Amino acid sequence: MVPGGVMRLSFAVLHGLPRLLLLTTALGVAFLTGCGEQGTSSEAVGPGASSASSDFKRDDGKLNVATTIAPLTSIILNVGGSRIHLRGLIPDGVDSHTYEPRPSDAEILSRADLLIMNGAHLEGTTEALAKTNLKDPKKIYRLAEATLSGDDPETGFLYDFSFPKEGGAPNPHLWMDPLYAMKYADLTRQWLSENDPKNADYYRANYEKFAAVLRQLDEAIRKDQLTVPTANRKLLTYHDSWAYWAREYGWTVIGAVQPSDFSEPSAKEVADLIGQIKRERVPAVFGSEVFPSKTLQAIAKEGGATFEDQLSDDAPPGDVRDVRHTYLGMLVEDMQIMFKRLGGSAIEVSKVPVANTATD
Ligand SMILES: [Zn+2]
Repeated sequence: MVPGGVMRLSFAVLHGLPRLLLLTTALGVAFLTGCGEQGTSSEAVGPGASSASSDFKRDDGKLNVATTIAPLTSIILNVGGSRIHLRGLIPDGVDSHTYEPRPSDAEILSRADLLIMNGAHLEGTTEALAKTNLKDPKKIYRLAEATLSGDDPETGFLYDFSFPKEGGAPNPHLWMDPLYAMKYADLTRQWLSENDPKNADYYRANYEKFAAVLRQLDEAIRKDQLTVPTANRKLLTYHDSWAYWAREYGWTVIGAVQPSDFSEPSAKEVADLIGQIKRERVPAVFGSEVFPSKTLQAIAKEGGATFEDQLSDDAPPGDVRDVRHTYLGMLVEDMQIMFKRLGGSAIEVSKVPVANTATD
């Protein structure tokens, strides 16, 4: 039998539901039915749960869904909820652009029914591994390519400083735009339903709940950004991950410090950036924990801007037990940091619930 008590326990923790009641019930059921199986640590995910880490060893008929980075893991969990096993292959806080898969990733992929990845050349090595190890190599799904096509600067893929056209790989960070995240969730709903039609209604209901919060987030960003002085609505970041977000909300990305080969910028590039910060009176420059850069800090200081190193595009805040450890939590925290540092407020954004929305 399915160890219902244990499953419900992890699911209650997962979704931050009225926990005391559910925990009591779940423990009671587990105790009464004497189900021997304990929740394995491989399935243990926190209330934020963007780091789902199933090893796909449970043979209970649920889809085994592999994915790559934490924001995607969170988006997929919001749609798949308790009816899929989910594994995010690229650990939090690791640079996804240069990630080298581990041998254990091949083993995990050999048990996966499908791989949902960002695409747009973000996870090249993982994709190569999936092609040789996935049970059915046709079951590789690319979110970015299913969302955008072409290179129309208004509607297509974007090429820029760190992702120049001659390099052939567009800027892959579509997920930083909540409306593209909604599209990603809808594609996930579609792909899960195709592979598991009996749960199609469940996936749809979960999608609707998640999309409602994404809509709230989108509207909150549109309101709060008006509190940022117009002249400050420009971004200089270390890692070039805000291109689609900026296009959506009408901001300007004036530069990214990290060159396209992910090395540190040259002395000339540094001098140019300092001049640009001074000329354009950029109040703050942004880095992230994943890409620590003393250079960026020095550039900010020289240019007379404040330096903020906590923006994130890969790693949600907190650890897996933290309710903010979700895609929504990451975006809300980024907006709070960005808007406040640039002279605005984040009142509406702060009202957006950040916990996972899927329920059993
Ligand atoms: Zn990135």
